[in-house]
Formats: sequence, structure tokens, C-alpha cells
Amino acid sequence: MTLLVDADAVLADLRSLAALTGGPAGARRLAWSPDWEVARDWLGERLAELPVGVDRDEAGNLWAELPGADDAEGFVIVGSHLDAVPSGGWLDGALGVCASLGVLRGLAASDAPPPVAVRLVDWADEEGARFGRSLLGSSACAGTLDPDEVRDLRDASKTRLQDALAACGVDLDGAPAAAGRLDGALAYLELHVEQGPVLLDGGRFASAVSGTFGDERYLVGFTGQSAHAGSTPMHLRRDTLAAAATAALEIREVGLRHGGVTTVGSIRSKPAIITAIAGASELMLDLRHLDAGVLATMLAECLDACDKAATAFDCGCEPRRLFGATPTPFHPALIALAREAVAEAGGGDGPPIPSGPLHDATEIGRKVPTVMLFAQSDPPISHTEVEDSPEAALRVAIEAYGRTVGGALDLVGAGDLSVVA
Ligand SMILES: [Zn+2]
Repeated sequence: MTLLVDADAVLADLRSLAALTGGPAGARRLAWSPDWEVARDWLGERLAELPVGVDRDEAGNLWAELPGADDAEGFVIVGSHLDAVPSGGWLDGALGVCASLGVLRGLAASDAPPPVAVRLVDWADEEGARFGRSLLGSSACAGTLDPDEVRDLRDASKTRLQDALAACGVDLDGAPAAAGRLDGALAYLELHVEQGPVLLDGGRFASAVSGTFGDERYLVGFTGQSAHAGSTPMHLRRDTLAAAATAALEIREVGLRHGGVTTVGSIRSKPAIITAIAGASELMLDLRHLDAGVLATMLAECLDACDKAATAFDCGCEPRRLFGATPTPFHPALIALAREAVAEAGGGDGPPIPSGPLHDATEIGRKVPTVMLFAQSDPPISHTEVEDSPEAALRVAIEAYGRTVGGALDLVGAGDLSVVA
């Protein structure tokens, strides 16, 4: 089915939401805050105009269901997140929610119901901006949320995560029961702004997304000997900053070699005075790739680079793992559909691009056939109030999203989308 989404209405919704919960200083939609509830009430008012049932699950995710011709066959999910980082952009998350609202409107206005039900979801606390735990609501649905791991996280004013959720009517210990919401889910489709420079650089308004990168984060400690900068000859030094800096340059080469991204965000050294050799240094390492095997190779090469650099400068080296997430490749049939939809919407034909940032689709894609579409970001930055996209790019992306949802409904109606690749 060709599902046409009214892009004018979606853009009007985005501007209305920005006027209500944003402004010159950026978005005010921090999760579990009164501002966030204002945004969700705004969404609820718009959903009330449609023939949908609205409720919240055990993790605080907001759902709206438009019935289909045969609901026993399952349902397709559309959505994103309304929550934002402090002073965030007007499109991050909101674009996907408003476009999903447009999808429901388009379906409600058509003569026949969709073959299966379509559910809109507004994921709770995608950003993790308040407590440092991203993808909270979607991870509860995907079965990867452990309440004990997040219970005692505190925000800047020392409020516990568990208490902030309780104030919004969410019992943290009951949140994992939200996993039941994915029973019968046939596909998940999410539109988002790219938040990076790839589409702008390629002159593309929108693109299908191939998946989200896996991520490995390490803290690598180098140990040497602090000594006087004047009295210690060059060949007798155990200089940890020289070792860490050498490793950092080699780590850059690893990213270039494997088509991934490798980042040394910081090297902190001690004693950090101008007249002393750095006796200890700590290097922060973040590695991302879409392929789990390549990510593992990159990690091995980066840790080997640290080891070799340490040896070359007569230092020791001790890596410590801080965080890891496996890649989520999206569903091939849905990627093909999204790519075609972008071309049909006037966005041209181009290869799907991977997502460096994590998204709710990262979690849901572990359980349900999933795809994302990106709209060009210009300036190519996000998590700031200057985040923006050209209106022409938003129109292409919104139309492509509607076409992708229509195509996915055809696939599930024909029983062609049963297996996660
Ligand atoms: Zn987002």
C-alpha cells in the first residue's frame, strides 16, 4: 500500500511542540520531569483526535494502537522518543514521534484498515541525560534492563532514578514486564535525524540505515616513572605520555584501516607539571563498528598498539573495560524497502549508512525486524539547540518513512517478514 504522510502537518506538529517545550535555549523535555509530561500530554491531545487506544506500559513507554484488519496476526510498531537532552534540538526524537503520528493519521484517513494493527510508541528516557542510562524504556521492552543496575543512579540534585520513576507512576521493579509489549511485534520502523555529517557531505537528504554500531569503551592505564625534565636523558626515560600518544596515533590508523570509528577522547597524565616526565597516563578509548567480528579485530589491534607503545617506552600497560554493546544490524528486507522509499520520495538512490549513535532501534532490533531512516542534519551536529535540518530534507525523509511503513505493512500482510536476519 502507498501510505502518504501529510508532511505539512508533521512539520506543523514539530513547530508546535518546539514552541511549547523549547525555544531559543533549546528543548526542555528532560525525561521524568514536568516538562516531559507537558510534551507527552501534547502528544496525548493529538492522539485523542484519532481512533486509537492509548496507554502506558510498565516502563513508562507511551503506546497508541490503531486496529488493523486482522490483529491476531500481530502488529507493526512506529515511533521514537519525545525526551531530550537539556538545551537539545527540536528534531532529535521529536521528528520520529511526529512522523509516526502522521503515519497513524494517514492510515486512519484511508478507506480500508491496515492488514495488521499499527502501534505508535514514545519510548521513555531514550537520552539518559538525567541519570546517565540511555535507552531505558526500550531496553525494558527488549529484556535487557536490570533494575538493580540502575536503581541507585542519581541525578545532579541527588534524586535516585528509582524515586524519579516512581514520581511518574513507574515502579522500577515492574519495568521489565514491559517486555510483553513486543509479543506479536512484526516490525519496528524509526525515523530520526542523522546527528552527523555523512548525508550532508554526500549531498543526500535522507537515507536508509543499515544498523547501529557496536561499541567498546576502555580505560588504558600506562605506568612508567616520573622524573626531572632536565636531568633525565631522553634514552633513559619511562615516559607514559609519549607511550599513550604513540598508541593514540596508531588507534586512529586502526579506525581508518577497518572502516570503523576509533576515538581517544582524553589522555590524562600525572603529575602534570611542566618540569616532570609523566609517570602515569590514562587513555580513554571508544571503538565502534557495525560488524561484531571487525569490532573484535579492531579492539585486539588497539590493545596491541597500547601494549607495543608501552614496551617501546619501557612502560607498563593495563586496559580496563568500561562498557560494551554489540552491533545491531537492521533487517535486510526492511533496509531495501527504506532505500527504495527514499528514492521514490525524491531523495535519490544511495547506499544505507550505519548509525554511530545508539538509538531505541538498537534495543528493539535485537528482538524484532527493524529499520531506521535518517534525515540529513545541517549543521551536522546534535544535542545542542542549533541542531537543524533543511525543510526539503525533512519532507523527503517524512515521505520516505510513510512509504517504508506502507511497504512493511505489505510485507507483513503477505507473511514475508518472519525472520530476523
Ligand atoms: Zn534521539
